[in-house]
Amino acid sequence: MDPFDSNSADRANMPRNMIENSMFEEESDVVDLAKESPSFPTFPALDPDEVAYEPRSSRLLVRGLGENDMDEDEEDCESSARLLGMSFMNRSSSLRPSSSPYTRQGLPRSCSRPSARTTVVCVLLLVIVASMAMVLYFLPGCTFTKSGCLKPNSTAPLQPVYPQSTSGELFPWTDIRLPASIQPLSYDLTLNPDLNTMTFTGRTVIKMTVRHDTMRIVLHSAELKITNATFQLGDRKPSDVTVLEYKPWQQIAVKFSEDLKAGQECVLTLDYSANLSHTYDGFYKSSYTDKDGNKRVLAATQFEPLAARKAFPCFDEPAFKASFLIKISRNQNFTTLSNMPKAKTTSLSNDLWLDEFEKTSVNMSTYLVAFIVADFTPISRNVSKSLLSVYCVPEKKEHTEYALDTASKLLQFYNDFFEIDYPLPKLDLVAVPDFLAGAMENWGLITFRETSLLVLKQSSPLDKQLVAFVIAHELAHQWFGNLVTMRWWNDLWLNEGFASYMQYMSLQTVLPQLDVDNAFLAVRFRALDKDALNSSHPVSMQVRTTEQVAEMFDSVSYEKGASLLLMLNSSLPGEQQFRKGIIQYLKEFSGSNTVTDDLWNSLTQVEVPPQQVTVSEMMSSWTLQKGFPLVIVSRKGDQVTLTQEPFLLTADNSRHTSSLWHIPVTYINDSCSLAPECKQVFTLKTKSATLKIPESVKWLKLNYKNSGFYIVHYGNESWAALIDALKNNVSVLTHEDRASLIHNTFALSRLGRVSLHQVLSLLNYMTNETEAAPVTEALLQLTTIYRLLDKRQEEGLVARMENYILHNFGALMENQSWGEEDRVSKQELRSAVLRVACSLHEPKCCQQAKTLFKQYVESNGTARIPGDLQRVVYTVAAQTDEDWTTLLEMYRHATSDAEKRNMLRGLASTQDTRRIAWILKAGLRGDLIQTQELALVISAVSSGFAGYLFAWDFVTENWDALIEEFPVGSFALQSIIQSTTSQFSTQTHLDQVQSFFSGLKDRGSEMRSVQEALEVIRLNQRWMETNLPLLKHWL
Ligand SMILES: [Zn+2]
Repeated sequence: MDPFDSNSADRANMPRNMIENSMFEEESDVVDLAKESPSFPTFPALDPDEVAYEPRSSRLLVRGLGENDMDEDEEDCESSARLLGMSFMNRSSSLRPSSSPYTRQGLPRSCSRPSARTTVVCVLLLVIVASMAMVLYFLPGCTFTKSGCLKPNSTAPLQPVYPQSTSGELFPWTDIRLPASIQPLSYDLTLNPDLNTMTFTGRTVIKMTVRHDTMRIVLHSAELKITNATFQLGDRKPSDVTVLEYKPWQQIAVKFSEDLKAGQECVLTLDYSANLSHTYDGFYKSSYTDKDGNKRVLAATQFEPLAARKAFPCFDEPAFKASFLIKISRNQNFTTLSNMPKAKTTSLSNDLWLDEFEKTSVNMSTYLVAFIVADFTPISRNVSKSLLSVYCVPEKKEHTEYALDTASKLLQFYNDFFEIDYPLPKLDLVAVPDFLAGAMENWGLITFRETSLLVLKQSSPLDKQLVAFVIAHELAHQWFGNLVTMRWWNDLWLNEGFASYMQYMSLQTVLPQLDVDNAFLAVRFRALDKDALNSSHPVSMQVRTTEQVAEMFDSVSYEKGASLLLMLNSSLPGEQQFRKGIIQYLKEFSGSNTVTDDLWNSLTQVEVPPQQVTVSEMMSSWTLQKGFPLVIVSRKGDQVTLTQEPFLLTADNSRHTSSLWHIPVTYINDSCSLAPECKQVFTLKTKSATLKIPESVKWLKLNYKNSGFYIVHYGNESWAALIDALKNNVSVLTHEDRASLIHNTFALSRLGRVSLHQVLSLLNYMTNETEAAPVTEALLQLTTIYRLLDKRQEEGLVARMENYILHNFGALMENQSWGEEDRVSKQELRSAVLRVACSLHEPKCCQQAKTLFKQYVESNGTARIPGDLQRVVYTVAAQTDEDWTTLLEMYRHATSDAEKRNMLRGLASTQDTRRIAWILKAGLRGDLIQTQELALVISAVSSGFAGYLFAWDFVTENWDALIEEFPVGSFALQSIIQSTTSQFSTQTHLDQVQSFFSGLKDRGSEMRSVQEALEVIRLNQRWMETNLPLLKHWL
């Protein structure tokens, strides 16, 4: 999946763990089977894969009401008591002694009509019980069980704690992960969507094999109403079975009275009905308005990571691969699409047809299944052995050619690169009008946001670059992710890091004119910035809950993953080693699932890198611990000592300073600094090591082209030598190395290792800088500081900062053209430079932008604003009443998706608070502005002075509506939190943000992005305290 501005992930709110569930749900639903209670059915011996009983989590999972069910009055009293922790009083006895507060004679009646005395007694009892509860809570969970506590070395079997299913019967499974006793072999799915009522019915026939003896089948189902279920074992006659459901974990189960034996085959058939989802996941409804103003409906799917279960009951974990045969009914005027080509169509009734697709020729994970019912039209061409098509709404058909061209080149490239042909007979790329992620790599049916796929022929190279990136990413997934899949979501980076890396690598070869290197460099800088926070996480880490899985779709899995693969590739000997290892990996694990080590082992088998470090040994240090190293260089004559330590912006005691990375340090020096042959490599595995260089070397620059994932600190003298060299001649370093110095020095200043003064003295060389990468990096860093000052209303410093930027970059701003520009790097440069110039109200820039807008409006759509300048032009236009209204009107009627987004950014940059309020609401409402664009709107509003507090208020006031649209943990929500809080730098704001999120509890307080937001505010606060007085002196 490509998250782009946001991603779509499962939105179901599962409890973080069973403890919270039993504490806060009105219906306690878990029973302690460790007790011997005659009212509970007994269960068979554990499956080999049965989870172990965990005493700690079972502590609150108790009710034991048995036959003594309470009446309603009692239940009120019971539930409030339970909130105080009383519920586990029951676990000490299943007989409920008469002294129990739950007996009829005592509390219940007084609770329903309390007198003063009984109230006091009630309160006293509650206090006592609550105190006991506290004591009990901190006792081991086994304290009151009949068997007592197990000694650590005891071999007594652990007992499971079964939850209660919806029907009241015990649910026969105790883990959020599915048992491994059943393996699905094939699914036969029939879906009957009704786009008038927005509902659907379905039938799922699952053929399975029993891996080892078991008395239950457990699988996933969410928000589906199962209406009928039959089961057939081997050749026996099918019979009706009862399906139990445990909603918190989105699981259903069938229990059997005798063992299903290992090796047996069986078939489970489930009929069900459901509503089409109103969010962006599962089988969801969507609509668009055609050019005649008619509303057209459609239904599409988005299953990654955990939403296939919302469309059909299934074993919804990536390791349960199976084949799929899909049938979908539709009305005459719709077409259907799925992973495979259509096999046949049969008439069901007058206006109802059933499309049947070929059975998948490969086994696939459930999250890669997809189907669409819509009125889209395609353009197609044959590439190798597959039919490649691009689909979209009929009126945008002329926007698809670029995508088809690019996809066919890339498909051919990957076929050759991986030496494995794309395995399906067809590949469709479909632009879906309502789509939250950037795109989704469903096998054979890749879905995209319209903006990620549709681009006009005359669009700017930058717009095309974006489309090419997304296509290259999703196509790489057809091998990396689809053919070979991570075993579980903890290794999501195997999918996403790899696809992200391949998107740059493939385009360097396939479309060199798109000049993708700068974009990849910027991505690595941002990945370093994120990973420098204490709230970051290891690339590969344990995840279990829905929210934890959703949060894996972040910068670490994607961008850090891609950066690590680049570092590995550039440190392996020989150009083809990386590729050979990848081919071996794909061939060895084709059709199956892997863990990170499988990739390292494949790469190691091919070749051992320098200094006999295996790939696994080296890369584990990068994937299993969070963060990255700071490499400190100190030189004495011909001796250069390199020392590593964790680069961590927030000091953390729990972080061991013993963290070590295997760093393939690269370096160049003044005698040879540009060509790749100049690069020398030294592997730093220990805390500190020394290398020798000729004494004549004037300066060293480490991390050639920033292809390693680390930051370098040189010490005062060496910094000064580098700065001097650059001042004399900008071209002594590659532009990537110049950008890398700028990025590193700002990062070191945030860390407190170099002064802001030193940063500014490096920037002095920039009056001679004309390359996009260093200029955009410097401007990004400077405007970040500028915005912080602006939001703190440090007016004097804001003015001085403006002067500083205009003084240093004024000549460059002056020199930019406003006409069409073909070269990507020139576009990147001028769009960044002019955006800053106009945002600082540089008169010439604002005037040019206004003129261009006026010409565009007056031309009645015949003139064109170059794509890379649209954002700056619309942003300037949106600052006046009249032009804002004109722009809104243009937005309503614009057909180019890339341009619409630029208009929307412009509209949201208004400093008029009434309009800010309007646009935020419109984004949430989702009619004129699609809700999928809300994260972008919030981000644009937040960047301005008038909007940043507004945006934060909007988020706090509409939190519940936001998490209704965007799942907790999703990339969209991560982005919203980040953009609304990252400019706070005061204690008051820190307190506000902290208190808001801590009040949310299970509605999002646990998200990593919340921790990140708080950390960033603290860092901003610290930066301000240190640098405000200094800035007054230096600027
Ligand atoms: Zn992806």
